[in-house]
Amino acid sequence: MKIQGGCHCGAITYEADIDPNTVSICHCTDCQTLSGSAYRTNVRATKDNFKLLTGQPKIYIKTAESGNKRAQAFCPECGSAIYATSPTDPQVYGLRVGTIRQRAELQPKTQGWCRSALDWVQDLSSAKQFPKQPS
Ligand SMILES: [Zn+2]
Ligand SMILES: [Zn+2]
Repeated sequence: MKIQGGCHCGAITYEADIDPNTVSICHCTDCQTLSGSAYRTNVRATKDNFKLLTGQPKIYIKTAESGNKRAQAFCPECGSAIYATSPTDPQVYGLRVGTIRQRAELQPKTQGWCRSALDWVQDLSSAKQFPKQPS
């Protein structure tokens, strides 16, 4: 599936060819902190299928619990998270689904690191809903 994506301010744009079956949620505590949200949603794109069109992301290298290092790419202007990949040999990119134009079609197929998932995250039905900003 061809997708197009970009950051909030528009400096960074990209396109990719992805398999929608690789959309996954990550509940790890690093993703919670780095995304500033309850969990993060990613989709895989191989190196040959990911193309940065404009802009240059800033890279933050995080060290995971396992000792693995991951390059976290984000827009230096607006802070939007764009992807994660290997800092030394990028073969696969984990694209941040929230930056993809077609994100409504990208329903997650798996959830990882459920041991640190927030208890309330699987059922939001008790949270009062508003079509726009709650008044
Ligand atoms: Zn930006
Ligand atoms: Zn994670």
